[in-house]
Amino acid sequence: MWWQEPITKLKGIGPKKALEFENLNVQTIGDLLNHFPRQGCYLDYSHVKTIKELTTDGEMQLFKGRIVRLNQRRSARNMKYATVTVGDDTGFAEVMLFGPQVYGVRFLKNGEEVLVIGKVTQGRTAKSVTNASLSAVKEEQQAAPGILPTYALTGGLSQNQVRSAVKQALALAKKELPECLPAPIMVKYHFLGRYEALRNIHFPSSPKLLDEATRRFVFEELFFLQCGLLHHRTKIKQENSGIKMSPNGKLWLQVKHNLGFELTASQKKAWQEIDDDMQGTEPMNRLVQGDVGSGKTALALLAMAKAVENGYQTCLMAPTEILAEQHYKEMQKVLEPAGIHTALLTGSLSTKQRREVLEGLADGSIQAVVGTYALIQDAVVFQSLALVITDEQHRFGVAQRAKLQDKSTAAPHVLIMTATPIPRTLALTVYGDLDVSLMKGLPPGRKPVQTLCYTEDMRPGVYKGLIHQIQQGHQGYVVCPLIEESEGVDAKAASELYDELTQTYLKGIPCGLLHGRLKAEEKDQVMEDFVKGKTKVLITTTVVEVGVNVPNATLMIIEGADRFGLAQMHQLRGRVGRGSAQSYCVLLTASQNPVTLERLQIMRTCSDGFLLAEKDLELRGAGQFFGLRQHGLSDLYIADILRDADTLVEARKAALWAMHDPETAAFVENAAATTQFDGRFDRIFNA
Ligand code: ADP
Ligand code: MG
Repeated sequence: MWWQEPITKLKGIGPKKALEFENLNVQTIGDLLNHFPRQGCYLDYSHVKTIKELTTDGEMQLFKGRIVRLNQRRSARNMKYATVTVGDDTGFAEVMLFGPQVYGVRFLKNGEEVLVIGKVTQGRTAKSVTNASLSAVKEEQQAAPGILPTYALTGGLSQNQVRSAVKQALALAKKELPECLPAPIMVKYHFLGRYEALRNIHFPSSPKLLDEATRRFVFEELFFLQCGLLHHRTKIKQENSGIKMSPNGKLWLQVKHNLGFELTASQKKAWQEIDDDMQGTEPMNRLVQGDVGSGKTALALLAMAKAVENGYQTCLMAPTEILAEQHYKEMQKVLEPAGIHTALLTGSLSTKQRREVLEGLADGSIQAVVGTYALIQDAVVFQSLALVITDEQHRFGVAQRAKLQDKSTAAPHVLIMTATPIPRTLALTVYGDLDVSLMKGLPPGRKPVQTLCYTEDMRPGVYKGLIHQIQQGHQGYVVCPLIEESEGVDAKAASELYDELTQTYLKGIPCGLLHGRLKAEEKDQVMEDFVKGKTKVLITTTVVEVGVNVPNATLMIIEGADRFGLAQMHQLRGRVGRGSAQSYCVLLTASQNPVTLERLQIMRTCSDGFLLAEKDLELRGAGQFFGLRQHGLSDLYIADILRDADTLVEARKAALWAMHDPETAAFVENAAATTQFDGRFDRIFNA
């Protein structure tokens, strides 16, 4: 088929260009057609703004100007980024370019006229443009005016080269392109045919047709995702019966007693659901969603005790060594005294320790193990694994979960615990294949964190407050603003903030620096220093958001708070208020935008993660919703779970219908396997 042919078949693409395309994961002509333009980044010449006209609410906008200053930099970690200052008669804007875009800067000159499209916010001094595409006007003028796509690029590719290749591919698609959505669905939703939709997503004839094309592709993606989930669920149920367990006995009661507290009402309810699942004939497949600090660990311990009491082994997987160790301490405190043999398996065990654990798991003498990724290595063999628990699941991909489940001969019970507050309506659809238990409220005796919100001019005072806390013997966190959806860039920002603070406000105070680019051992060292109180302040990116427990930390400063989602700030805030002292969370922002400030005010009054998540959803123009990236939903290509929540519900309905009708189900499975979709849907079905 033409879509399986390599792109070198197209005019103007030789082996060298093909290599550049390969960096974009484009190898075949089909891949190229599925390389959609960046959403919201079409150049619509009827809407070119002046810099003064740019609104600073984070909307994507197009403007024209001349380059005033070019600044290409390379950080210590060899990460390239560039800032380009662009000016016109009305003002200046600073354009931030990251990753592949930086290469293009080489071809630009001071004084050159450029078109920029990007998200505009108010920076400290000038308007700041992120998520930007920047191209020389002389290149754009060669193309016909109208609505033009801009593509993600790498290396030596230019927009025009990609556009011309896509045009040729579209000409081929016009002759022959099978439909992948079942006919009744096409009729019901009045979708554009696949060719029309492809043509308009690349070269829209009008904004309306661009919307129509987008509507179709969003639906298509969510529909195949839901069909895939249903397909899996049916398969698992058909192939496996669960390990049916008995009602709780003495051992379980002993463990419950060892917890040292009464379960809260919501813990009791969630436990009842878990208990029923484990005593049922089907394997449990349950997600427990509970706010930070709601006490999910206790549920895990109880479930582990139940599995062991029934003569089986169980494992708990945590996303970091620090968290695994925290859980291990709990297990030693609660499970060991009841006579359950526990172990810890992480990457930093010595060879001898590791061998002992592996032997214990293989011969069944270790009944409950907690660990990191180390648990999914092939060398790890269980004698009789019946319960797999993953904590803070958003750090694990579906594939990793599956690998762990494969370590059991019968289908094990699966329990997933997460603090990511995805609103219930969404959770049911997003998790399609999971049952969900919700835990609300906190255990008794917690002092709510007091949240304050200040603008940039209050910074010195805020840092005085931090020093005051330190003088009282406490510790604090400083969280760096999110810059791009990229570990690397955030890591860099954190290093810069660290340098700045340790030379100014926090001079002489021992500080630690934590970000995602550190090696595991480095991270552990930084955390350990902080846990032990050697460092007083931890300057960090959002990596600190997962489960870390330092009760002595009483203050968190979130810099650039306007860049965070509410739910995400709530997760961060959950790091303080874990001890008996009153804790504080200070949101700092440079924004003067009343909408932004109002959004931040919500954080002051609301301490319910679910409510905040719903608010985020409502206000979502404001930005990202915590956790979606980690949920593997970033695998979504064009759909956006939040923006497209309604479509998701429709797609779920349509998928339920389609997969229950054998003929349609066969059509869908066949369509998913067709190579014209660059294997994207195939991967969903065969995950
Ligand atoms: P998370 O849900 O964020 O994982 P944890 O399981 O770490 O929360 O629990 C937070 C803290 O609350 C722990 O110190 C735990 O011992 C305590 N806790 C949990 N359940 C209860 C309860 N029912 N009563 C009192 N304290 C509890
Ligand atoms: Mg936890």
